[in-house]
Amino acid sequence: MNLQQNPFLYPTLYVFTLYGLRYLAMASLTWLFARPTPRGGWGRPHAHVPAAFNARRHIGRELVFSVLSLAIFGMVNGVLWSTGALKHSLIYLHFADHPAWWFVLSIPAMVVLHDSFFYWAHRAMHTRWLYARVHRLHHQSVHPTAFAAYSFHPWEALVEALITVPMLFIIPRTRWPS
Ligand SMILES: [Zn+2]
Repeated sequence: MNLQQNPFLYPTLYVFTLYGLRYLAMASLTWLFARPTPRGGWGRPHAHVPAAFNARRHIGRELVFSVLSLAIFGMVNGVLWSTGALKHSLIYLHFADHPAWWFVLSIPAMVVLHDSFFYWAHRAMHTRWLYARVHRLHHQSVHPTAFAAYSFHPWEALVEALITVPMLFIIPRTRWPS
């Protein structure tokens, strides 16, 4: 079967690849300037990093869980596409369908809404029960590198992905006009 015709796999791999490449590029670039080693990279070294710090193992864990999170982000996109849920979202493809001022306003509106969801989700993650079972993994990166960007427990990655879903049905949004 043609991959592009697969209604679940194609949007899953699309987001996985797009976010994955962005993640690798940005994390690798940041790695050049900031590293959690006693001597640091080109930038300011992290304070109090023990000499025995095992950067390879540390980054390995951050990478594995980040890739897992990216796969979950992709699968949420796959479900949205394959179930047809996106058709009921407020995404509009033609810039002229809403006034230009709304386009400008929609960006801070999304930032505020997303940050509010994220704030409360993160607070919930710091309750004793959730911290011990889910969120502790994220805070194992006590000397984080940029590779920790998506280093979450799979349950937390799912919550992170799901907090963006209501926004699709609350805020009309479109692409950059072209
Ligand atoms: Zn936290």
